[in-house]
Amino acid sequence: MQIAVLAVQGAFIEHEKMLDRLGVESFELRQKRDLERPFDGLILPGGESTVQGKLLRELEMFDELRGRILAGLPVLGVCAGLILLAQRLSNDESVHFGTLPVVVKRNAYGRQLGSFYTEAEFGTLGVVPMTFIRAPFIESAAPDVEILAQVEGRIVGVRHQNQIGISFHPELNEDFGIHNEFLIMCGAQRPPRA
Ligand code: GLN
Repeated sequence: MQIAVLAVQGAFIEHEKMLDRLGVESFELRQKRDLERPFDGLILPGGESTVQGKLLRELEMFDELRGRILAGLPVLGVCAGLILLAQRLSNDESVHFGTLPVVVKRNAYGRQLGSFYTEAEFGTLGVVPMTFIRAPFIESAAPDVEILAQVEGRIVGVRHQNQIGISFHPELNEDFGIHNEFLIMCGAQRPPRA
């Protein structure tokens, strides 16, 4: 199995390290020709969604990736990656891939609560650690979107078909549950273990 990690900006190395510890191969998507390599899943890391969206277009990777997501490529969108996937942003005119039928609010926790740590239930995984960094949350989701996690009444994790979108950074904690869940979606026979 090969996982592609978008590496134009942001916290991509942490995902590569996590996959490495799970014994899963990955490579970085930095330019258009990297898309020629076969891959089974895509991680869109945290960072700055505006910059990532701009670079994806400038590097001519945008249309190809959007097409593949629409065609069923498993994708994990983390924080800025969730913003890239969202069909609409409530406080920003931009739409990037727009493949995930949710409305997302950017920088939704304001300045003081810009970064925080908590723990909450995530789908069937039980309680997982959650590190939020100038995080978005999901204001609303289409009826066929599965809500995986909520923190203080706000949706912070969803799944829709081949797409998982989360507000927080699972790559910054010692818990492999979410990456495992994603890898199973990508076709792993059983959860890889660190
Ligand atoms: N605030 C960033 C944005 O709007 C997201 C932050 C993150 O990815 N940690 O793109």
